[in-house]
Amino acid sequence: MRYIFPPAATVHVPIARSEAVFPVHRVYCVGRNYADHAAEMGADTREPPFFFSKPADALVAGGGKVPYPPATVNLQHEVELVVALAAGGTDIAVEQALVCVFGYAVGIDLTRRDLQQLAKDKGHPWDMAKGFDHSAPIAALQPVDAIGHPTRGTIWLKVNGQSRQHGNLVQMSWNVAEIISKLSTYVRLTAGDLIFTGTPAGVSTVTRGDQLIAGIDGVGELSITLA
Ligand code: MN
Repeated sequence: MRYIFPPAATVHVPIARSEAVFPVHRVYCVGRNYADHAAEMGADTREPPFFFSKPADALVAGGGKVPYPPATVNLQHEVELVVALAAGGTDIAVEQALVCVFGYAVGIDLTRRDLQQLAKDKGHPWDMAKGFDHSAPIAALQPVDAIGHPTRGTIWLKVNGQSRQHGNLVQMSWNVAEIISKLSTYVRLTAGDLIFTGTPAGVSTVTRGDQLIAGIDGVGELSITLA
């Protein structure tokens, strides 16, 4: 078998304190997993979370310079706990779900909010609002062996030194085990899958030149500059 051109390289995310890297399969995201963010988006805060995807090559591993995307005048940040899977399956029980987790990272779900609002208004898909190039900056993964499974602790984001998002992992409507279990009823999860688990309130519009620093207690920090 001969490819007609070289296939794209496998996307990978660095692992803290390791020479090894995490090869990425798919990137899933949870919508509305913190009631205060659902409320600021004008949504029903009791609605169960739902899922969408970003392409794996939308990841910007390690952060740094992120190009300001085209086709938007309202780019917004969403700081999120990212779960990295080393195993998967379908119909994974909540009680078995954490066994699948390799580790965690701080991520930012960059969103073209104007395109998302247009999509919501028209009942169109969210892909172009969420899954654009460079839309998923992510810090190095912290293995469970090193940090365990974070369930509480602040999750925050600053823009140019000013606090914009400041929540706590305990505010998640669905916890990590519940998210994995639910998602595995829709798709077969595999080693290499990443799941962005939703954002607390405080999302705001950013522009070229802005510096964003995000962090989660016990998980780490991620810094990006919009170039
Ligand atoms: Mn999000």
